[in-house]
Amino acid sequence: MRRALLSVSDKSNLVDFAKQLVALDFELISTGGTMKALEAAGVPVQSVETITHFPEMLDGRVKTLHPAVHGGLLAKRDDPEHMAMLEKEDIKPIDLVCVNLYPFKATIEKPDVTQAQAIENIDIGGPSMLRSAAKNYISVLPVVDPKDYPGVIKALQQQTDTPEYRLGLAAKVFRHTAAYDALIAQYFTTEPEPEKLTLTYEKRQSLRYGENSHQKAAFYVEPLAQKYSLANATQVHGKELSYNNLRDANAALQIISDFNDQPAVVALKHMNPCGIGVATQLVDAWQKAYESDPISIFGGIIALNREVDAATATEMHKLFLEIIIAPSFSSEALTILEKKKNLRLLTLDFEGAKSAADREITGIMGGILIQSGDQVTESANDFEVVSQKQPTPEQLKALAFGQTTVKHVKSNAIVVTTADRTLGIGAGQQNRIDSVKIAVDKAKTKPQFKDAILASDAFFPMDDSVEYAAKHGISAIVEPGGSIKDKDSIKKADELGVALVFTGVRHFKH
Ligand code: 5GP
Repeated sequence: MRRALLSVSDKSNLVDFAKQLVALDFELISTGGTMKALEAAGVPVQSVETITHFPEMLDGRVKTLHPAVHGGLLAKRDDPEHMAMLEKEDIKPIDLVCVNLYPFKATIEKPDVTQAQAIENIDIGGPSMLRSAAKNYISVLPVVDPKDYPGVIKALQQQTDTPEYRLGLAAKVFRHTAAYDALIAQYFTTEPEPEKLTLTYEKRQSLRYGENSHQKAAFYVEPLAQKYSLANATQVHGKELSYNNLRDANAALQIISDFNDQPAVVALKHMNPCGIGVATQLVDAWQKAYESDPISIFGGIIALNREVDAATATEMHKLFLEIIIAPSFSSEALTILEKKKNLRLLTLDFEGAKSAADREITGIMGGILIQSGDQVTESANDFEVVSQKQPTPEQLKALAFGQTTVKHVKSNAIVVTTADRTLGIGAGQQNRIDSVKIAVDKAKTKPQFKDAILASDAFFPMDDSVEYAAKHGISAIVEPGGSIKDKDSIKKADELGVALVFTGVRHFKH
């Protein structure tokens, strides 16, 4: 008679699985809680103590850690010496292990969880049994996921539990126990740069393709992803998100979180904002973001930090957009926007919105790079006026808006803004003056340009940027400073009568 050892924390579908094992002539062995559940359902089962001749002890810390269990799992069935040793010690082989683990993740997710509670939810015997069974998968079926129960029963019924099939289950076990331990390691680790990095991610979905249609891609999420992230967003309408959508939407979320103190709209294309507007009414913020670059917004990603109302929805509905993300949509707004079948509508919790994750990870060939996110923003208090000309209070507000914006634009980044909207954005050029020209030339045509300021993500290497900006009507400029030629830029600012402000903080985004 074959024997199965069942010891599960998640008891879903357990009884059905156990009944089918009994029907397949398995003798069942179980630990305390699992056995109770089976007995209550009338399934014949014996306790693990009957094979260990040892009581479950230490509040369940030691239940199955016993040679009678691990001998029965690890013995090589085709090795006569192994089998003779089992015989001598009166240990019977175990042919199937069905184990899922103490809910460590669910425990540490609870608010106010203590370390003692977390520690009690570190499963020791479960992973040991799973790993023993998986190591000896040739002879033992290791089952870790309730979703696999029907497949296992079918394979046993049809005798299709081939070595390949078993190997698949074993690999799943090692992934499962590795991820389980990785989370425990993360929970205990305080060093920012531990000598071993134990990252673990859960698959959310396969993506149709990657950046291009010939690239494969999938979306994996952190087990404890921050609330304000796409990992925790809900799609309420539209086509499935693509790889590029996810990256763009992420960039839009990072930007808008820096403008959360008033209604704001961010329009984004290819990882760069093309328009940002803030206003008392959301619809006015939308209008400003739209007017910033009515050409680029076509096919854009829109993030809004207040509930989308009918007025804003009506305006957005006039355009082709890829994605709209907001904390919520009014029912009228939804009715309007849902008319576009493909338009993706996403909601997420804006509480605790942050412009960057605590930790950012980028892949390079042969490795990854890790840095803390750029969570710093500057306000007028951080400015040092270096020109003779002093910025006006209104200019200071605009400089702060521009400085917050430029941080989110790919380097070399230049933005031209007022205090409540972008007018021109120059992104990703390989030299700074080209970005200046793009931003200024886009802004120049707009009626608000008379009050415009310019912000730069890094210092001006020479005075040509100040010169171009000033000659085209910019009246105040903010940049980090720090170039050996700062003096030239300051001199040029004084010559041309513009206010120049240094922040001391560079915001590269590559
Ligand atoms: P039950 O509800 O049957 O009492 O307990 C099932 C849980 O106990 C499973 O999650 C299983 O992984 C775990 N488990 C089984 N044996 C041991 C052991 O020896 N030590 C610990 N800490 N957990 C065990």
